[in-house]
Amino acid sequence: MTAKIIDFLRERRPEGPCLVVDLDVVRENYLAFAHALPDTRIFYAVKANPAPEVLALLASLGSNFDCASVAEIDMARTAGATAERISFGNTIKKERDIAAAFARGINLFAVDCEAEVEKVARAAPGARVFCRILCDGAGAEWPLSRKFGCEPDMAVGVLEHAHRLGLAAYGVSFHVGSQQGNVEAWDAALASAAGIFELLAERGIQLQMVNLGGGFPTRYLKEVPGVPSYAQAIDGALKRHFGNRIPETIIEPGRGMVGNAGVIKAEVVLVSKKHESDSVRWVYLDIGKFGGLAETMDESIRYPIRTSHDADEKAPCVLAGPTCDSADVLYEKTPYDLPISLSIGDEVLIEGTGAYTTTYSAVAFNGFEPLASYVI
Ligand SMILES: *Cc1c(COP(=O)(O)O)cnc(C)c1O
Repeated sequence: MTAKIIDFLRERRPEGPCLVVDLDVVRENYLAFAHALPDTRIFYAVKANPAPEVLALLASLGSNFDCASVAEIDMARTAGATAERISFGNTIKKERDIAAAFARGINLFAVDCEAEVEKVARAAPGARVFCRILCDGAGAEWPLSRKFGCEPDMAVGVLEHAHRLGLAAYGVSFHVGSQQGNVEAWDAALASAAGIFELLAERGIQLQMVNLGGGFPTRYLKEVPGVPSYAQAIDGALKRHFGNRIPETIIEPGRGMVGNAGVIKAEVVLVSKKHESDSVRWVYLDIGKFGGLAETMDESIRYPIRTSHDADEKAPCVLAGPTCDSADVLYEKTPYDLPISLSIGDEVLIEGTGAYTTTYSAVAFNGFEPLASYVI
């Protein structure tokens, strides 16, 4: 929470729930990554927060962009990024979207199977591809499952296939899981990547790049290690597994770049109980899972919540959103301690919400507007 955000909310008094993003924090985060990993190119994961002001700032600072769709590619271009600063990092692409990206000059594509390699070979002949490998996501609060990537031994064949079809077999990527609290999480994946480099070198194919993905955390309720700790652990793992032949590296921070730059202002709509003797109150906000807080799914991400009554005694609450969908409950399995004096109409500030909020908010489900956003 920055003074700039507090002043903005006090002076502008925006109506309804909204996200306020402080660009100064985004700048600090970018510079922290650039400083800690000076030999690594930064590809901001656009999906975390594609606000034009955020993209323009990052473009001006020299960032590159990891995009998941043609629409995101166009947002990055509008923000000032040229094609060589953009990757198409989604492993699941329509062939016509690959062609559209290639027509815009994009020359770096993610793949994780031979069928996707074949699409890229047809729609973007000669382009560079990197193969994503599976990661178990252990230690991450928002693991990315088995949806993306293939087993490392399969990656060898995928990259060989790319080479055979005239593509540039460029490297290996992985994602250690989002909100990764373990700075050593990159080690096992880098060991696998080094193995792939070696097997392909034996077949005469020289890979050049390791894409270290995202996963860098932002601070929610618990303290997290700083960027320098991650950089040091990654540097150590690169040396351990690649010796003195360290490849080109890139990172794709999303949450770590914008998470702590944003605060959502919301309002208490109702405080009630299901029975007079219940100890747990239900607190309903004017924002919920469909208004931008989708990452509370399975109670994965637990946001810090500030109220003007924080000095008062607290008691456990079930926290829920305003829509008529029973899934719209934020925290119930582990209730959330909120001040007993919190009441209808009170404002609450939800911190650490700069990433993965606006883009997840539904368009007028139940007639609620999508989450408003102010970038200051
Ligand atoms: C979402 C995503 C990221 C960003 O991950 P964070 O954990 O938010 O840093 C990076 N790379 C890829 C391929 C992604 O899909």
